[in-house]
Amino acid sequence: MARIEIRDVSKLFGEVRAVEGVNLLSTEGEFLVLLGPSGCGKTTLLRMIAGIEEPTSGDIVIDGQVVTHLPPRVRNIAMVFQSYALYPHMTVYKNIAFPLRARGMGRATIKDKVEWAAGMFGIGHLLDRKPRALSGGERQRVALARAMVREPSVFLLDEPLSNLDAILRASAREELRQFQKRVAVTTVYVTHDQVEAMGLGDRIVVMSKGSIRQVGTPAEIYQWPADTFVATFVGSPPMNLMEQGDLLVGFRPETFLPAEFVEVRDGGVTYPFEVTYLEYLGAERLVYGNVGEKFQARHVVSRLPGSVDVSIEAGSTYSFAVSRRDLRYFDRASGLRTDKGLA
Ligand code: ATP
Repeated sequence: MARIEIRDVSKLFGEVRAVEGVNLLSTEGEFLVLLGPSGCGKTTLLRMIAGIEEPTSGDIVIDGQVVTHLPPRVRNIAMVFQSYALYPHMTVYKNIAFPLRARGMGRATIKDKVEWAAGMFGIGHLLDRKPRALSGGERQRVALARAMVREPSVFLLDEPLSNLDAILRASAREELRQFQKRVAVTTVYVTHDQVEAMGLGDRIVVMSKGSIRQVGTPAEIYQWPADTFVATFVGSPPMNLMEQGDLLVGFRPETFLPAEFVEVRDGGVTYPFEVTYLEYLGAERLVYGNVGEKFQARHVVSRLPGSVDVSIEAGSTYSFAVSRRDLRYFDRASGLRTDKGLA
C-alpha cells in the first residue's frame, strides 16, 4: 500500500499542454479513477505516475519518496493497459510467472505466488492453457494476475476493460472492485466511461483539457458537480441547464417529474413542459421537450422511472416540477457552482 501524491505537475509536448498544474493526493489503498473525455491528459498523467513519461514541471511522490526522475522499475508499480499483451506461446502459468522469473525468484516461491494471484482472479483452473484457448475476459484476468503477482504497492490501469463486451465488462468491473478491496493496493484507473468511473472509484478525478475540474466520491460528483463541465459530462442524459439572469439553473433528469410527484412547498419550481419526443427504455422513459415562460424556451429531459405510470404523449404540455433541494446553480460566466440561487 502506498500514497500517491502529485504536486503541481505539468506536461508539455511542444506547444501542447497535455497536463497542467495538477495536484492530487490519494489515501492508502484507495481506488482513484481519472475520468475525462479523449485527449484530456489522463493517460499522460498515469504515465508520469508510472515513470514512462517525465513531467515538464512538478513532482510525483510515492509513499513519501520523490520519484519524479526515477525509472519505472524502481517504483514498485504494476500497470495494465487496454492492449495488454500475453505471451501467446506460454501457458497461463508461465505468463503469470514471467515477471517473477525475470527477477530470479525460486521455483517454489513462484508457484505459491502464481497460485495466489490466479486464485484471486478465479483462473486457477486455466493455468495449463495457452492464451488463444481463453475468452477475452479470461485473458484480461490473466493480464491482471500477471501485473499483481509482484505485489506492487501501486496498481495503474489504463482502460483495461475496454476490449470486453458490455456484459463481460460489467462483471469484470465487479470483480476488479472486489479484488482491489481485498488486496487494498492503491489503484489509479483511467477511463472515459462515466459508468465505469461511478461503479469503481472510491473517488473520481474529473479532468478536462489537462486540468482537474473536481475530485470527489461518485455521489459528490453526481450530486454536487463543481461546474457545468462536470454537471454535463457525468450523468446520462446530462444535467439540464437553463439560463436565469447571471446564473444557470441545473437539475438532473430524474428530478424533473410530473408535478403531482414532486414536493414543491419547500420552494420548488413548476414548469409547463411541452413534450416533443419520448423514448421508452423498459425500466424508464426519457421524455424530451421544452419549458417556457420564466425562462426562454429551453430544451430539457425528464427521466421517468416505471413507477411514474402517468400517460404522457408527444405534442402535449404537462405540469412538471423540481423540488428545491434538487436545484443547482452555476455562475454563467465562469461555469462554477454557486450558492447564489439558493438565497
Ligand atoms: P484518450 O482517452 O484519448 O487516451 P487522454 O485523456 O488519455 O485521451 P492523453 O493521451 O493524455 O489524453 O493526451 C493528452 C494530450 O496530449 C492530447 O492532446 C494528445 O494529443 C497529447 N499528447 C499525448 N502524448 C503526446 C506525445 N507523445 N506527443 C505529442 N502530444 C501528445
